[in-house]
Amino acid sequence: MRLPFVRIAALLLVCSPLLFPMTQISAESTEPAAQPALTDRQIAVVIDDFGNGMTGTEEMFSLPIRFTAAVMPFMPTTKRDAQLAHEKGLDVIVHMPMEPNRGKRSWLGPGAITTDLPDEEIRRRVEAAIADVPFAIGMNNHMGSKATSDERVMRIVLSVVKQHGMFFLDSRTTWKSVIPKLAAELGVPQLSNHVFLDDVYTAQHIAKQMGVVQQHINAHEACVTIGHVGPPGKKTAAVLRDSIPQLSRKAAFVKLSELLVPSSEKDIIPHP
Ligand SMILES: [Zn+2]
Repeated sequence: MRLPFVRIAALLLVCSPLLFPMTQISAESTEPAAQPALTDRQIAVVIDDFGNGMTGTEEMFSLPIRFTAAVMPFMPTTKRDAQLAHEKGLDVIVHMPMEPNRGKRSWLGPGAITTDLPDEEIRRRVEAAIADVPFAIGMNNHMGSKATSDERVMRIVLSVVKQHGMFFLDSRTTWKSVIPKLAAELGVPQLSNHVFLDDVYTAQHIAKQMGVVQQHINAHEACVTIGHVGPPGKKTAAVLRDSIPQLSRKAAFVKLSELLVPSSEKDIIPHP
């Protein structure tokens, strides 16, 4: 099964977060004035849309860095991709399909969270998604510009996430996201995406976005950046691979769970 949703989602819905302020991790606001050495800095690469046998899957898994694999539930290669990621020592998170403001419901894939669902059905779908993705320790949203701005919906989603001892990465597909506020209220570990790498599927654009990651890491302790398997997958993997030597001099490539370790309380939620 090849769904068109990834391509369209990336085109329509992923680009807008680039306009957002790039200071979502609580680190920046709570850290003392002294700046750490550049080598103490951290880059957390998250690759979305695993689970559907998408282009670039192999290239991503062969990258010589630690990253986080966001795997969609209920897909043909959900189990295989989660298993592979786990075997490679990567973090696995559930890539939860959630309703966007624009676009067809069919782009979302199965088991999606939509804002017309009653409370119990939302809870059931989140539970089912978590159960379907082996080794998952967290969750982020696939699309979701509508659902992540809905307090009722996100309160239920984050409550289930909390019950499973997971964290939530806000992909930031809308500036109206209520995730930081609710995660703080509910005590759910939370991080936010800073840079989408491949909202436009050209090597030139992806390389430009890697430059944005570089700038971010020059000014902040940590950068969370999201790329995708699927239409841009091979290009994104190639640009990532090429950028490793230079970026490694500035920061360590880490998994999301490493941004949440107690020793670096700066990176722990809750977001203000
Ligand atoms: Zn996605």
